[in-house]
Amino acid sequence: MAGKRDYYDVLGVSKDASQKEIKQAYRQLAKKYHPDLNKEPGAEEKYKEVTEAYEVLGDEKKRQQYDQFGHAGANGGFGGGSYQYSSQGFSGFDDIFSQFFGGGGGFGGYSSGRQANAPRQGDDLQYTLDLKFEEAIFGTEETIRYKREEACHSCEGTGAKGGSGKETCSQCHGQGIVQQVRNTPFGQMATQTTCPNCQGTGEVIVEKCTSCGGSGREEKNHTVKVKVPAGVEDGQSIRLSRQGNAGYNGGPNGDLYVVFSVQPSDIYNRKGAQISIELPINFAQAALGDEVEVPTVHGKVKLKVPAGTQSGDVIRLRGKGAPILNRDQMGDQLVHVRVVTPKSLNEKQKEALRAYAKASGDNVTEAEKNFFDKLRDAFS
Ligand SMILES: [Zn+2]
Ligand SMILES: [Zn+2]
Repeated sequence: MAGKRDYYDVLGVSKDASQKEIKQAYRQLAKKYHPDLNKEPGAEEKYKEVTEAYEVLGDEKKRQQYDQFGHAGANGGFGGGSYQYSSQGFSGFDDIFSQFFGGGGGFGGYSSGRQANAPRQGDDLQYTLDLKFEEAIFGTEETIRYKREEACHSCEGTGAKGGSGKETCSQCHGQGIVQQVRNTPFGQMATQTTCPNCQGTGEVIVEKCTSCGGSGREEKNHTVKVKVPAGVEDGQSIRLSRQGNAGYNGGPNGDLYVVFSVQPSDIYNRKGAQISIELPINFAQAALGDEVEVPTVHGKVKLKVPAGTQSGDVIRLRGKGAPILNRDQMGDQLVHVRVVTPKSLNEKQKEALRAYAKASGDNVTEAEKNFFDKLRDAFS
């Protein structure tokens, strides 16, 4: 996935390009790089890249995911996997291809009708799940409710009213494709396009189901239990297989991607499995040492502040961080010590500090000595 180019750059269109512009750009580039027409080295790779970009940008839903999540969003999961043509069945690709190059040709036995009737997986969906800071650390179980497309209840997904069934399409005579002769920049070309009357299926419904208008699908509320693993982070997602929209022509459902949105904490700062907090202590605690209680996500912990602690020192609490994902192990909590100088003192405190200063008198530390030596050298 490293170095994958931006899909908009690949097609050479702007981020707000219309579907028409995207389709046009894709057609031009696909024609330029198609391996049957362009034998130059690298053309095939270019062609694949262009097709992949169009697969995503040419589909409003996938384009939205891509805009939001980049390649990881369009391709799903934690962004690790490679792009899969097969899962989406080249939607929108077949008909364009047949327009350019004519059916048959380099593709041997290509049949639009057969393709349109083939089982196809439904669309993937995405759900954003809000999690509290601790829920992301310890994991949780949530029941989520969302809308997805399912088979229409009144026609059981057939799209036909009362079992009226289908008949052969009169426009393409069941072929699913229609022939056209066109003038193109290459001269006159006989082209085949997907039949607009039956969308390439070769059949049309005799009487459409009134409840779904013949699509065979309807949007329904669906609930599903989500087990959030311990240790997830903001922006990560899990895939719930087959919980997306219903498939086409008996194909399987798409998947559901649950993206976690984790609330930040007021006291803890989390980076992966490591958690940091800031611990303000006073001068006396820093100089003399102390034992203080500090919060951790696992509960309060007694912490020894050693004598002579400096502001900025970090004390590590092993195993008091967040779980390391998919491992039976915890990260650490880092306590960043900050020595706070009092802004106002009462008389008694002032007296004590004056006495301290007097007692320190000639007792200048080695570091202070070095500093003053350097200062003197600089001026002499
Ligand atoms: Zn229906
Ligand atoms: Zn037809």
